[in-house]
Amino acid sequence: MLTIENLHATVGGKPILNGLTLTVPTGEVHAIMGPNGAGKSTLAYVLGGRPGYEVTDGSATFDGVDLFALEPHERAAAGLFLGFQYPVEIPGVSYLQFLRESLNAQRRGRGEAELSGAEFIKLARAQAATLGMDAEMLKRPVNVGFSGGEKKRAEMVQMGIMAPKLAILDETDSGLDIDALKAVGAGINSIMRSPDKSVLLITHYQRLLDYVRPDRVHVLSGGRIVRSGGAELAQELEREGYAEVAA
Ligand code: ADP
Ligand code: MG
Ligand code: MG
Repeated sequence: MLTIENLHATVGGKPILNGLTLTVPTGEVHAIMGPNGAGKSTLAYVLGGRPGYEVTDGSATFDGVDLFALEPHERAAAGLFLGFQYPVEIPGVSYLQFLRESLNAQRRGRGEAELSGAEFIKLARAQAATLGMDAEMLKRPVNVGFSGGEKKRAEMVQMGIMAPKLAILDETDSGLDIDALKAVGAGINSIMRSPDKSVLLITHYQRLLDYVRPDRVHVLSGGRIVRSGGAELAQELEREGYAEVAA
């Protein structure tokens, strides 16, 4: 699904990723853990194609195509979904409008017809219900005044609607209480735990991994993967700290 080889990237001219190599097979959930400043968010932004993040060496192949040859909107149309640590607020645009435009942009990118308003509302309501979210909430402006948990639930609704092949979720657990964490974990499992989908779950803490059990855990430190293991590596990191494990 995703093969990253010897990835080097700079932000504002500063090298942040320094030879990162990682493979996420189809049907697997991989966690990336690492200390603050390791380059975790940078990796997510580089894969998403955020302006200002420059790839200076290496490659990334997504579902058989050169990811870096695609524009960000083409990556979304190809089935890549990015969830961010700090979801943006968009005053003046309702969440429903935002979701509908995101979905229709993806469909146009695939040469598919847009959904009618009625079809879209049905889909959005069904996804909101799955995530235990009141669909009325989606009439409000995007993320404006949403709690941390509401933002993440709404993002899971978005992920359900976009039905990506690969989801890259950056610290999707940050700032969540236990109930929201469980709901988000259940959302990730129900939407993405499938033989034809993959997840790259970026997290600083082990607790989300109690709900979404990873097939592999990788430690990112100094802009590269310094260690990989099974789910038990997350517990080891929690116990012993990054300094010990990543040394
Ligand atoms: P993590 O998500 O693992 O905490 P980040 O990817 O956010 O790490 O940051 C990695 C490093 O890149 C940090 O040293 C950070 O200060 C630096 N960095 C991030 N964004 C920028 C930027 N826009 N300009 C310069 N340095 C940046
Ligand atoms: Mg950080
Ligand atoms: Mg980060």
